[in-house]
Amino acid sequence: MKLILFDIDGTLIRSHGAGRQTLMETLQEMFGTAGPIDSYKMSGKTDPRIITDLLTAAGISRDEIEAGLPAVYSLMTDKARAIFPRKEMLPCSGVLPLLAALNERADVTLGLLTGNINSTAPIKLMTAGIDPSQFRLGAYGSDALDRNQLPAIAMRRAAALWGRPFTGDNTVIIGDTPADILCARAGKATAVAVASGWHAAHTLAQYQPDHLLENLSDTAGIMNILLGDNPPRSTD
Ligand SMILES: [Mg+2]
Repeated sequence: MKLILFDIDGTLIRSHGAGRQTLMETLQEMFGTAGPIDSYKMSGKTDPRIITDLLTAAGISRDEIEAGLPAVYSLMTDKARAIFPRKEMLPCSGVLPLLAALNERADVTLGLLTGNINSTAPIKLMTAGIDPSQFRLGAYGSDALDRNQLPAIAMRRAAALWGRPFTGDNTVIIGDTPADILCARAGKATAVAVASGWHAAHTLAQYQPDHLLENLSDTAGIMNILLGDNPPRSTD
């Protein structure tokens, strides 16, 4: 069984600033400021990392931020339901056929590994026309501030689901930023980088992913990369 974990923003979907607007409105409403959000680079970071960085820059204490996180997540989720449908969210090129092909495989468990919190991730996917229920598990920003802790969390959830251990040897992490590659390394998983987000292929190449793709359009080629030769099929 192979565990294949997808990042969301820039990998599965293009969200056109929906997450940034949701965070900005939430933090302004709750704390009266969103800190230096206009210049802050969010890509590859977890939501709690972003929230903590923005609010500490605005002079709010870590204790106050940490205590406020559950309420922040709750308001973010309400706002996401209103804001996301107003944004043009689309699946990235090749994502729908690739997910369809992976879903036909009995030897694949699909999961999410994302900095989004667990309550906004499915809203984002649904808005972009991707069924979130096909991902059997996820490791989310709401699980850990440090993205590098998320692979182990995803593997633990896969192990609980199937009653057998999952390690980096049978786990693949697909993402669009250097942080996704580093996080795959932290989990000793295979790192597949895709240049469909904010980072060009030559930038991602500097982080030496196991595989580097321009996009996810070549379904057969990517299936081969993810699963190797002569894969068993559940249906044909
Ligand atoms: Mg991303």
